[in-house]
Amino acid sequence: MDDILRTLNEKGVKLIAVSKKQPDEKILSLYERGHRAFGENRVQEFQEKFERLPKDIEWHMIGHLQTNKVKYIAPFVHLIHSVDSYRILKEINKQGKNANRVIPCLLQFKVAEEDTKYGLTLDEALSFIGQAEFSQLTHIEIRGVMGMATYTDDENQVRAEFRKLHAILETLKSKYFSSQDSFREISMGMSGDYLIAIEEGSTMVRIGSLLFGDRKQ
Ligand SMILES: *Cc1c(COP(=O)(O)O)cnc(C)c1O
Repeated sequence: MDDILRTLNEKGVKLIAVSKKQPDEKILSLYERGHRAFGENRVQEFQEKFERLPKDIEWHMIGHLQTNKVKYIAPFVHLIHSVDSYRILKEINKQGKNANRVIPCLLQFKVAEEDTKYGLTLDEALSFIGQAEFSQLTHIEIRGVMGMATYTDDENQVRAEFRKLHAILETLKSKYFSSQDSFREISMGMSGDYLIAIEEGSTMVRIGSLLFGDRKQ
């Protein structure tokens, strides 16, 4: 664990410790070492952990969100990594307004060759970002992109998929976000591929099992 923390620190890459299905003791032991950013993928578990764990934890939502559940996390979520439709983005904006805050978000893109259920294509994202209505979403702030590579030993394939995500960030930045300094995050890299992700420009890695051990089923 020390090696991972040291490497990320040296490279200036932010660690999101993925604590889904992990017991509180493990979260607290990392917390006691000064770590504050934790990631969860299910709304109910997310809410329960927020209620019972220290209030200065930054809670990151990394899993697919259903529209009817956004309201439960809107008051306290630090960053939503998994915005995979315009519909969900509009709902986050609505609940941000209700909670009287601007909610930071990343757009999740489908870059893996394997059949993954969730994630935008670049064309889908361009089609809504280009609409006038998009600029009226004043209770969300898009900070960058998120994606997952194919689960494979083929390092070249993983690298190519991360490059694709990096290129998507650059395209969006030059077309729509060139005046917004906070549009810069690339959330990519997990336990098995985070070193490649960092080489390809990741600014945030989401690591679970490598830090905490196997998850309970
Ligand atoms: C579970 C999960 C991770 C962490 O996976 P590990 O292989 O345990 O590091 C990262 N990102 C997302 C979206 C996840 O659901």
